[in-house]
Amino acid sequence: MKNLVILGGGYGGMKILSELLPNNLPEDVSITMVDRVPYHCLKTEYYALAAGTVPDKEVRVEFPEHPKLTVKYGEVIGVNAKEKKVLLKDDESISYDDLVIGLGCEDKYHNVPGAEQFSFSIQSIEKSRKTYSALNNLGPGSIVGIVGAGLSGVELASELSESRGDLKIKLFDRGNHILSAFPDRLSKFVEGWFKEHNVEIINHSNITRVEENTLYNNDVPVKCDVIVWTAGIQANKVVRDMEGEKDRSGRMVITPRHHLPNDEHIFILGDCASLPHAPSAQLAEGQAVQIVEVLQKRWNGEEPPAEFPPIKLKGVLGSLGKKQGFGMMADRAITGRVARLLKSGVLWLYKFHNG
Ligand SMILES: Cc1cc2nc3c(=O)[nH]c(=O)nc-3n(C[C@H](O)[C@H](O)[C@H](O)COP(=O)(O)OP(=O)(O)OC[C@H]3O[C@@H](n4cnc5c(N)ncnc54)[C@H](O)[C@@H]3O)c2cc1C
Repeated sequence: MKNLVILGGGYGGMKILSELLPNNLPEDVSITMVDRVPYHCLKTEYYALAAGTVPDKEVRVEFPEHPKLTVKYGEVIGVNAKEKKVLLKDDESISYDDLVIGLGCEDKYHNVPGAEQFSFSIQSIEKSRKTYSALNNLGPGSIVGIVGAGLSGVELASELSESRGDLKIKLFDRGNHILSAFPDRLSKFVEGWFKEHNVEIINHSNITRVEENTLYNNDVPVKCDVIVWTAGIQANKVVRDMEGEKDRSGRMVITPRHHLPNDEHIFILGDCASLPHAPSAQLAEGQAVQIVEVLQKRWNGEEPPAEFPPIKLKGVLGSLGKKQGFGMMADRAITGRVARLLKSGVLWLYKFHNG
Protein backbone atom coordinates (compact mmCIF):
# COMPACT_ATOMS: atom_id res chain seq x y z
CA MET A 1 0.00 0.00 0.00
CA LYS A 2 1.34 3.48 -0.91
CA ASN A 3 0.77 6.29 1.56
CA LEU A 4 -0.07 9.79 0.36
CA VAL A 5 0.51 12.07 3.34
CA ILE A 6 -1.13 15.50 3.40
CA LEU A 7 0.17 17.97 5.98
CA GLY A 8 -2.54 20.49 6.83
CA GLY A 9 -6.30 20.13 6.48
CA GLY A 10 -6.77 23.70 5.26
CA TYR A 11 -8.36 24.85 1.99
CA GLY A 12 -5.69 23.16 -0.14
CA GLY A 13 -5.60 19.91 1.85
CA MET A 14 -9.40 19.64 1.85
CA LYS A 15 -9.54 20.15 -1.90
CA ILE A 16 -7.07 17.31 -2.43
CA LEU A 17 -9.35 15.07 -0.36
CA SER A 18 -12.50 16.10 -2.20
CA GLU A 19 -10.82 15.41 -5.55
CA LEU A 20 -9.59 11.95 -4.51
CA LEU A 21 -12.40 10.68 -2.28
CA PRO A 22 -14.64 8.82 -2.55
CA ASN A 23 -13.84 7.11 -5.88
CA ASN A 24 -10.71 8.49 -7.47
CA LEU A 25 -8.08 6.75 -5.39
CA PRO A 26 -6.31 3.65 -6.78
CA GLU A 27 -6.73 0.38 -4.83
CA ASP A 28 -3.14 0.47 -3.57
CA VAL A 29 -3.09 4.06 -2.28
CA SER A 30 -4.28 5.30 1.10
CA ILE A 31 -4.19 8.81 2.55
CA THR A 32 -2.99 10.13 5.90
CA MET A 33 -3.87 13.72 6.71
CA VAL A 34 -2.15 15.44 9.64
CA ASP A 35 -3.42 18.56 11.36
CA ARG A 36 -2.93 20.11 14.78
CA VAL A 37 -6.65 20.89 14.86
CA PRO A 38 -9.21 18.05 14.72
CA TYR A 39 -11.42 19.75 12.11
CA HIS A 40 -11.04 21.93 9.02
CA CYS A 41 -10.98 25.61 9.99
CA LEU A 42 -12.44 28.37 7.83
CA LYS A 43 -9.55 30.76 8.08
CA THR A 44 -11.23 33.35 5.87
CA GLU A 45 -13.71 33.92 8.74
CA TYR A 46 -11.20 34.40 11.57
CA TYR A 47 -11.79 38.16 11.54
CA ALA A 48 -15.42 37.51 12.58
CA LEU A 49 -14.42 34.95 15.20
CA ALA A 50 -11.99 37.47 16.71
CA ALA A 51 -14.56 40.28 16.59
CA GLY A 52 -17.09 38.07 18.37
CA THR A 53 -19.72 38.12 15.62
CA VAL A 54 -19.69 34.40 14.75
CA PRO A 55 -19.46 31.50 17.18
CA ASP A 56 -16.50 29.11 17.09
CA LYS A 57 -18.63 26.27 15.73
CA GLU A 58 -19.42 28.26 12.59
CA VAL A 59 -15.81 28.36 11.47
CA ARG A 60 -15.30 24.61 11.75
CA VAL A 61 -16.05 21.87 9.23
CA GLU A 62 -15.68 18.15 10.02
CA PHE A 63 -12.96 16.29 8.13
CA PRO A 64 -14.46 13.70 5.76
CA GLU A 65 -14.67 10.06 6.82
CA HIS A 66 -13.53 7.33 4.43
CA PRO A 67 -12.06 3.83 4.93
CA LYS A 68 -8.88 4.88 3.10
CA LEU A 69 -8.38 8.13 4.98
CA THR A 70 -6.60 8.32 8.34
CA VAL A 71 -6.77 11.69 10.05
CA LYS A 72 -3.91 12.13 12.46
CA TYR A 73 -4.13 14.84 15.10
CA GLY A 74 -0.65 16.19 15.78
CA GLU A 75 1.94 18.93 15.47
CA VAL A 76 4.27 18.61 12.48
CA ILE A 77 7.80 19.73 13.35
CA GLY A 78 9.78 18.75 10.25
CA VAL A 79 10.31 16.54 7.22
CA ASN A 80 13.14 14.07 6.69
CA ALA A 81 13.18 13.86 2.89
CA LYS A 82 16.01 11.29 2.78
CA GLU A 83 14.05 8.80 4.89
CA LYS A 84 10.68 9.95 3.48
CA LYS A 85 9.32 10.65 6.96
CA VAL A 86 7.27 13.40 8.53
CA LEU A 87 8.38 14.26 12.05
CA LEU A 88 5.76 14.99 14.67
CA LYS A 89 6.09 16.40 18.17
CA ASP A 90 6.60 13.75 20.87
CA ASP A 91 9.00 11.68 18.74
CA GLU A 92 6.37 10.28 16.43
CA SER A 93 6.93 9.96 12.68
CA ILE A 94 4.89 9.02 9.60
CA SER A 95 6.35 7.43 6.46
CA TYR A 96 5.18 8.67 3.08
CA ASP A 97 5.47 7.72 -0.56
CA ASP A 98 4.16 11.10 -1.71
CA LEU A 99 3.89 14.16 0.52
CA VAL A 100 1.81 17.32 0.13
CA ILE A 101 2.76 20.17 2.45
CA GLY A 102 -0.13 22.60 2.94
CA LEU A 103 0.53 24.00 6.40
CA GLY A 104 -0.54 27.56 5.61
CA CYS A 105 1.16 30.71 6.83
CA GLU A 106 2.05 32.68 9.95
CA ASP A 107 2.41 36.35 10.79
CA LYS A 108 5.48 38.14 9.55
CA TYR A 109 6.73 40.77 12.00
CA HIS A 110 9.41 42.40 9.79
CA ASN A 111 11.86 42.35 12.74
CA VAL A 112 9.82 44.96 14.63
CA PRO A 113 10.94 44.56 18.25
CA GLY A 114 8.14 43.41 20.56
CA ALA A 115 5.62 42.89 17.74
CA GLU A 116 5.37 39.13 18.16
CA GLN A 117 5.34 39.30 21.95
CA PHE A 118 2.89 42.14 22.50
CA SER A 119 0.41 41.91 19.65
CA PHE A 120 -2.50 39.58 18.98
CA SER A 121 -3.03 37.64 15.77
CA ILE A 122 -5.76 36.20 13.52
CA GLN A 123 -3.54 33.77 11.61
CA SER A 124 -4.54 30.57 13.42
CA ILE A 125 -7.70 29.45 15.18
CA GLU A 126 -5.93 29.24 18.54
CA LYS A 127 -4.62 32.78 18.17
CA SER A 128 -7.94 34.12 16.88
CA ARG A 129 -9.64 32.74 20.00
CA LYS A 130 -7.13 34.58 22.21
CA THR A 131 -7.73 37.74 20.19
CA TYR A 132 -11.49 37.28 20.62
CA SER A 133 -11.06 36.99 24.35
CA ALA A 134 -8.80 40.07 24.60
CA LEU A 135 -11.03 42.23 22.38
CA ASN A 136 -14.33 41.22 23.91
CA ASN A 137 -13.15 41.67 27.51
CA LEU A 138 -12.22 45.31 26.88
CA GLY A 139 -14.09 47.97 28.80
CA PRO A 140 -15.98 50.78 27.04
CA GLY A 141 -13.83 53.45 25.43
CA SER A 142 -10.79 51.13 25.19
CA ILE A 143 -8.40 51.66 22.30
CA VAL A 144 -7.68 48.90 19.76
CA GLY A 145 -4.73 49.32 17.39
CA ILE A 146 -4.88 47.21 14.22
CA VAL A 147 -1.58 47.20 12.36
CA GLY A 148 -1.93 46.66 8.60
CA ALA A 149 -4.84 47.68 6.37
CA GLY A 150 -4.89 44.87 3.83
CA LEU A 151 -7.89 42.56 3.47
CA SER A 152 -7.70 40.93 6.91
CA GLY A 153 -7.00 44.19 8.82
CA VAL A 154 -9.90 45.94 7.08
CA GLU A 155 -12.29 43.04 7.68
CA LEU A 156 -11.35 42.87 11.36
CA ALA A 157 -11.61 46.64 11.91
CA SER A 158 -15.04 46.87 10.26
CA GLU A 159 -16.48 43.78 11.94
CA LEU A 160 -15.23 44.94 15.34
CA SER A 161 -16.57 48.45 14.90
CA GLU A 162 -20.02 47.02 14.19
CA SER A 163 -19.90 44.56 17.06
CA ARG A 164 -18.34 46.93 19.61
CA GLY A 165 -19.33 50.47 18.72
CA ASP A 166 -18.04 51.56 22.15
CA LEU A 167 -14.37 50.88 21.27
CA LYS A 168 -11.95 53.36 19.68
CA ILE A 169 -10.38 51.58 16.71
CA LYS A 170 -7.21 52.85 15.07
CA LEU A 171 -6.18 51.25 11.78
CA PHE A 172 -2.50 51.79 11.00
CA ASP A 173 -1.65 51.75 7.32
CA ARG A 174 1.68 52.18 5.56
CA GLY A 175 0.49 53.92 2.39
CA ASN A 176 -1.53 56.93 1.20
CA HIS A 177 -4.65 54.79 1.05
CA ILE A 178 -5.74 51.57 2.76
CA LEU A 179 -6.08 48.39 0.64
CA SER A 180 -3.14 49.42 -1.51
CA ALA A 181 -3.47 46.30 -3.68
CA PHE A 182 -6.95 47.46 -4.87
CA PRO A 183 -7.99 50.32 -7.20
CA ASP A 184 -8.24 53.83 -5.67
CA ARG A 185 -12.02 53.97 -6.07
CA LEU A 186 -12.43 50.91 -3.92
CA SER A 187 -9.97 52.12 -1.25
CA LYS A 188 -11.83 55.43 -1.06
CA PHE A 189 -15.19 53.68 -0.67
CA VAL A 190 -13.82 51.63 2.24
CA GLU A 191 -12.22 54.73 3.79
CA GLY A 192 -15.59 56.49 3.59
CA TRP A 193 -17.22 53.55 5.41
CA PHE A 194 -14.61 53.75 8.17
CA LYS A 195 -15.13 57.51 8.53
CA GLU A 196 -18.87 56.99 8.97
CA HIS A 197 -18.22 54.31 11.57
CA ASN A 198 -15.63 56.32 13.54
CA VAL A 199 -12.69 54.06 12.76
CA GLU A 200 -9.55 56.20 12.63
CA ILE A 201 -7.21 55.45 9.71
CA ILE A 202 -3.60 56.46 10.30
CA ASN A 203 -1.83 56.57 6.92
CA HIS A 204 1.96 56.67 6.40
CA SER A 205 2.43 54.55 9.50
CA ASN A 206 5.67 52.85 10.27
CA ILE A 207 5.48 50.73 13.39
CA THR A 208 8.99 50.74 14.81
CA ARG A 209 8.45 49.02 18.14
CA VAL A 210 5.70 47.37 20.19
CA GLU A 211 5.57 47.23 23.98
CA GLU A 212 2.84 46.07 26.32
CA ASN A 213 -0.17 48.33 25.55
CA THR A 214 1.91 50.71 23.44
CA LEU A 215 2.96 50.77 19.83
CA TYR A 216 5.44 53.22 18.36
CA ASN A 217 4.35 54.75 15.08
CA ASN A 218 7.32 56.50 13.43
CA ASP A 219 8.87 56.25 16.94
CA VAL A 220 5.96 58.15 18.55
CA PRO A 221 4.25 56.11 21.32
CA VAL A 222 0.53 55.39 20.88
CA LYS A 223 -1.33 53.87 23.83
CA CYS A 224 -3.52 50.90 22.87
CA ASP A 225 -5.34 48.49 25.15
CA VAL A 226 -5.09 45.70 22.56
CA ILE A 227 -2.85 45.59 19.47
CA VAL A 228 -3.66 43.20 16.62
CA TRP A 229 -1.04 42.49 13.95
CA THR A 230 -2.30 42.01 10.39
CA ALA A 231 0.73 43.45 8.63
CA GLY A 232 2.22 40.60 6.69
CA ILE A 233 2.51 36.84 6.38
CA GLN A 234 5.18 34.25 5.73
CA ALA A 235 5.16 30.52 5.06
CA ASN A 236 4.75 28.09 7.96
CA LYS A 237 7.94 27.58 9.99
CA VAL A 238 8.17 23.91 8.94
CA VAL A 239 8.60 25.08 5.32
CA ARG A 240 10.88 28.00 6.21
CA ASP A 241 13.16 25.50 7.98
CA MET A 242 13.32 23.11 5.03
CA GLU A 243 16.26 23.09 2.65
CA GLY A 244 15.62 24.58 -0.80
CA GLU A 245 15.07 27.87 -2.57
CA LYS A 246 12.46 30.17 -1.03
CA ASP A 247 11.04 33.59 -1.82
CA ARG A 248 11.16 36.62 0.51
CA SER A 249 8.19 35.32 2.46
CA GLY A 250 9.79 31.93 3.05
CA ARG A 251 7.54 30.23 0.48
CA MET A 252 9.12 27.32 -1.32
CA VAL A 253 10.01 27.70 -4.99
CA ILE A 254 8.43 24.79 -6.89
CA THR A 255 8.31 23.32 -10.39
CA PRO A 256 5.29 23.77 -12.74
CA ARG A 257 4.14 20.37 -11.39
CA HIS A 258 4.12 21.88 -7.87
CA HIS A 259 6.83 19.68 -6.36
CA LEU A 260 10.31 20.53 -5.10
CA PRO A 261 12.87 20.90 -7.90
CA ASN A 262 15.03 18.13 -6.38
CA ASP A 263 12.29 15.84 -5.05
CA GLU A 264 9.29 14.88 -7.16
CA HIS A 265 7.60 13.25 -4.17
CA ILE A 266 7.25 16.45 -2.11
CA PHE A 267 4.52 18.85 -3.28
CA ILE A 268 4.13 22.31 -1.74
CA LEU A 269 0.61 23.69 -1.53
CA GLY A 270 -1.20 26.98 -0.88
CA ASP A 271 0.31 29.63 1.38
CA CYS A 272 3.52 27.55 1.68
CA ALA A 273 4.25 27.73 -2.09
CA SER A 274 5.83 30.57 -4.05
CA LEU A 275 3.28 31.25 -6.80
CA PRO A 276 2.69 34.16 -9.19
CA HIS A 277 -0.45 35.33 -7.32
CA ALA A 278 -1.11 36.62 -3.82
CA PRO A 279 -1.86 33.69 -1.51
CA SER A 280 -5.54 32.88 -1.15
CA ALA A 281 -7.90 30.01 -0.40
CA GLN A 282 -8.94 29.95 -4.06
CA LEU A 283 -5.33 29.68 -5.18
CA ALA A 284 -4.67 26.80 -2.76
CA GLU A 285 -7.71 24.98 -4.16
CA GLY A 286 -6.72 25.58 -7.78
CA GLN A 287 -3.26 24.26 -7.08
CA ALA A 288 -4.67 21.22 -5.27
CA VAL A 289 -6.59 20.22 -8.42
CA GLN A 290 -3.38 20.30 -10.47
CA ILE A 291 -1.42 18.34 -7.83
CA VAL A 292 -4.10 15.64 -7.91
CA GLU A 293 -3.74 15.44 -11.69
CA VAL A 294 0.03 14.90 -11.37
CA LEU A 295 -0.49 12.19 -8.73
CA GLN A 296 -3.20 10.39 -10.69
CA LYS A 297 -1.14 10.33 -13.88
CA ARG A 298 1.81 8.90 -11.99
CA TRP A 299 -0.33 6.28 -10.22
CA ASN A 300 -1.61 5.23 -13.66
CA GLY A 301 1.96 4.94 -14.97
CA GLU A 302 1.48 7.94 -17.29
CA GLU A 303 3.58 11.07 -17.71
CA PRO A 304 1.99 14.10 -15.95
CA PRO A 305 1.66 17.32 -17.99
CA ALA A 306 4.95 19.25 -18.04
CA GLU A 307 3.00 22.38 -17.10
CA PHE A 308 -0.54 23.54 -16.45
CA PRO A 309 -2.58 26.52 -17.65
CA PRO A 310 -2.54 29.43 -15.17
CA ILE A 311 -4.86 28.89 -12.21
CA LYS A 312 -8.09 30.85 -12.79
CA LEU A 313 -9.05 33.06 -9.87
CA LYS A 314 -12.57 34.39 -9.67
CA GLY A 315 -11.72 37.53 -7.72
CA VAL A 316 -11.47 38.83 -4.17
CA LEU A 317 -14.31 39.74 -1.84
CA GLY A 318 -14.05 41.53 1.48
CA SER A 319 -16.62 42.42 4.10
CA LEU A 320 -17.35 45.72 5.83
CA GLY A 321 -19.38 44.39 8.70
CA LYS A 322 -22.46 42.32 7.98
CA LYS A 323 -24.16 44.58 5.40
CA GLN A 324 -21.52 46.13 3.14
CA GLY A 325 -18.56 44.78 1.25
CA PHE A 326 -16.06 45.37 -1.52
CA GLY A 327 -14.16 43.33 -4.02
CA MET A 328 -12.75 42.72 -7.46
CA MET A 329 -14.64 40.41 -9.81
CA ALA A 330 -13.36 39.87 -13.35
CA ASP A 331 -11.09 42.93 -12.91
CA ARG A 332 -14.05 45.14 -11.93
CA ALA A 333 -14.30 46.85 -8.57
CA ILE A 334 -17.58 46.18 -6.77
CA THR A 335 -18.71 47.84 -3.56
CA GLY A 336 -21.71 47.87 -1.25
CA ARG A 337 -24.44 45.37 -0.46
CA VAL A 338 -24.01 43.21 -3.54
CA ALA A 339 -20.35 42.56 -2.72
CA ARG A 340 -21.37 41.53 0.82
CA LEU A 341 -24.12 39.22 -0.45
CA LEU A 342 -21.70 37.59 -2.87
CA LYS A 343 -19.21 37.01 -0.05
CA SER A 344 -21.87 35.39 2.13
CA GLY A 345 -22.95 33.26 -0.85
CA VAL A 346 -19.40 32.01 -1.44
CA LEU A 347 -19.11 31.00 2.21
CA TRP A 348 -22.51 29.30 2.17
CA LEU A 349 -21.58 27.31 -0.95
CA TYR A 350 -18.24 26.30 0.53
CA LYS A 351 -19.89 25.01 3.69
CA PHE A 352 -22.60 23.29 1.65
CA HIS A 353 -20.01 21.38 -0.41
CA ASN A 354 -17.69 20.57 2.48
CA GLY A 355 -20.00 20.33 5.48
C1 LIG B 1 -8.91 37.18 8.06
C2 LIG B 1 -8.57 36.49 6.75
C3 LIG B 1 -9.44 36.62 5.68
C4 LIG B 1 -9.17 35.98 4.47
N1 LIG B 1 -10.04 36.10 3.45
C5 LIG B 1 -9.85 35.43 2.29
C6 LIG B 1 -10.81 35.47 1.25
O1 LIG B 1 -11.83 36.16 1.35
N2 LIG B 1 -10.58 34.74 0.11
C7 LIG B 1 -9.46 33.95 -0.02
O2 LIG B 1 -9.33 33.27 -1.06
N3 LIG B 1 -8.51 33.89 0.95
C8 LIG B 1 -8.67 34.60 2.10
N4 LIG B 1 -7.74 34.54 3.11
C9 LIG B 1 -6.50 33.76 2.90
C10 LIG B 1 -6.77 32.27 3.07
O3 LIG B 1 -7.35 32.03 4.33
C11 LIG B 1 -5.47 31.46 2.94
O4 LIG B 1 -4.81 31.86 1.76
C12 LIG B 1 -5.80 29.97 2.91
O5 LIG B 1 -6.29 29.57 4.17
C13 LIG B 1 -4.58 29.13 2.53
O6 LIG B 1 -4.96 27.79 2.48
P1 LIG B 1 -3.88 26.66 2.85
O7 LIG B 1 -4.52 25.35 2.55
O8 LIG B 1 -2.57 26.98 2.23
O9 LIG B 1 -3.65 26.80 4.43
P2 LIG B 1 -4.68 26.91 5.64
O10 LIG B 1 -6.07 27.00 5.18
O11 LIG B 1 -4.15 27.99 6.52
O12 LIG B 1 -4.49 25.50 6.36
C14 LIG B 1 -3.29 25.15 7.01
C15 LIG B 1 -3.60 24.00 7.96
O13 LIG B 1 -2.37 23.53 8.51
C16 LIG B 1 -2.54 23.29 9.90
N5 LIG B 1 -1.20 23.44 10.52
C17 LIG B 1 -0.41 24.53 10.47
N6 LIG B 1 0.77 24.27 11.06
C18 LIG B 1 0.71 22.99 11.50
C19 LIG B 1 1.63 22.13 12.17
N7 LIG B 1 2.87 22.55 12.50
N8 LIG B 1 1.24 20.86 12.46
C20 LIG B 1 -0.01 20.42 12.11
N9 LIG B 1 -0.91 21.17 11.47
C21 LIG B 1 -0.55 22.45 11.16
C22 LIG B 1 -3.56 24.32 10.35
O14 LIG B 1 -4.22 23.90 11.53
C23 LIG B 1 -4.48 24.39 9.13
O15 LIG B 1 -5.55 23.48 9.25
C24 LIG B 1 -7.97 35.18 4.34
C25 LIG B 1 -7.09 35.07 5.43
C26 LIG B 1 -7.38 35.70 6.63
C27 LIG B 1 -6.44 35.55 7.79
